[in-house]
Amino acid sequence: MDYTEILESIYSEIQQYAKFGKQADYIPALAKVNPDQFGICIHTVHGEISEYGQADVPFSIQSISKVFALAVALSIQGDRLWKRVGKEPSGTAFNSLVQLEVEHGKPRNPFINAGAIVVADILLSCLLEPEKEFIAFVRTLCNNDNINYNEEVAQSERENGYLNAAIANLLKYHRNVEGDIERVLHFYFLMCSIEMSCHDLSRAFLAFANHRQVFDYAGIRLTSSQIKRINAIMQTCGFYDEAGEFSFLVGLPGKSGVGGGISAIYPLRYSVTVWSPRLNSKGNSVMGIKALELLTTKTNESIF
Ligand code: GLU
Repeated sequence: MDYTEILESIYSEIQQYAKFGKQADYIPALAKVNPDQFGICIHTVHGEISEYGQADVPFSIQSISKVFALAVALSIQGDRLWKRVGKEPSGTAFNSLVQLEVEHGKPRNPFINAGAIVVADILLSCLLEPEKEFIAFVRTLCNNDNINYNEEVAQSERENGYLNAAIANLLKYHRNVEGDIERVLHFYFLMCSIEMSCHDLSRAFLAFANHRQVFDYAGIRLTSSQIKRINAIMQTCGFYDEAGEFSFLVGLPGKSGVGGGISAIYPLRYSVTVWSPRLNSKGNSVMGIKALELLTTKTNESIF
């Protein structure tokens, strides 16, 4: 399969959507990003790489980091994790408080903010040097030692993070956050602030696409069954309250972030990351979804 040619033709077909949507501006540092950028990169399990556009430009991975955080928590806690976080799609916005109240402080899944804040709390209590160990894991996954947190983005989100602070307080009230709220939020915002390119992310997600290979990165080990479960949660919960639509249009497990990135995998074949900052009303990249829809349509490769 010549993915490079396919990526080129996809890019020209989606030009008609180039000005649709707008970039996230609730985090002031993200509002400064030039919205008219597009990159895509595919890594196959056989080691081929195909990319197009600004595939090497680092961007804010935001919620895509929740997949990495889940991987670390699952590796440390195993199935005990599910006592504190559920695994059902939420059907509500990523930052919604509503279900948390009704469900007595147990977040629906690890990919909504409430779930990721609980996961951040777990990592803080289990890791000796959480910031250092987490970034080491991400660097090893994508084989790039230059990956880092962007403190400015994290700080900018913290200064405006009233809703996430409310979520953390509600979790604490229900005793589903053990640590100090400020410390937990600090770590959560830092994880979201990591900057990676399509190339880096696609390389990192290869580990989830190739579940038959040993998963052991910077001391974080997962069984193939645990990888299957992470992929299942990407499929059902990876796109805020648009997970059903993404499944319908694209048919791959994946995770989006409000920085405009989407990483997805085709098990045992490839991982792909697309980035374009303009988002739809659900917080997903407009061009990103279109590109992946065309990718699985043109190649006739989806998990369905
Ligand atoms: N740091 C962002 C927040 O908590 C993540 C949002 C996202 O990408 O879904 O609002």
